[in-house]
Amino acid sequence: MLLHQFLSGTLGWNREASFVQKLNLMGKQMTSWLYISGRGHSGSTMLDAMLGNADGIESVGELVSGMERYKELCSCGETFRDCPFWDGVRQRFEATADDTWDNAVRASVGQAHIKNFPKTILAGGEQKWIRQLAVYSEHIAAAVCQKEKDVIVDSSKEITRALFLLRFVPGSKVIHLVRHPTSDLNFAE
Ligand SMILES: [Zn+2]
Repeated sequence: MLLHQFLSGTLGWNREASFVQKLNLMGKQMTSWLYISGRGHSGSTMLDAMLGNADGIESVGELVSGMERYKELCSCGETFRDCPFWDGVRQRFEATADDTWDNAVRASVGQAHIKNFPKTILAGGEQKWIRQLAVYSEHIAAAVCQKEKDVIVDSSKEITRALFLLRFVPGSKVIHLVRHPTSDLNFAE
């Protein structure tokens, strides 16, 4: 059973559809998150790359788990700090969100830590930190996708981030990858 089915079916959590409807009425197109969760070595990189070939999808690798590592190399060969693509994302984010990229990084990376899973389960949509992170997430997706793409794929895999997106960012979907035990045994040989 998919995590989303479990959360919405078993626990009865509802998505905040009214926010989506409001944006549609305003004529704005929503950019959606497609988040890949699961353990390491579960095929997420391959799935991320395959999805990235589809029209309308912007695949950005492990975004939330990598967005504070400015010195690491982007796939273009530049560091995350010097990469022209990410420099553009940061500038667009700061222009539209009226906030700093660093604040969005701190909030996103902090929430995704596994220690915050209980806090994220128990949180209400009216809480300030939840509303702030939801707004950051919307602006990050829009800054990455611009007008050409509709879906941002993040393969960071943290289950706590997946839970947050499903509960508080309208339109989000999660693919939870499970590695078969025999594959684990083969991998260990
Ligand atoms: Zn780059």
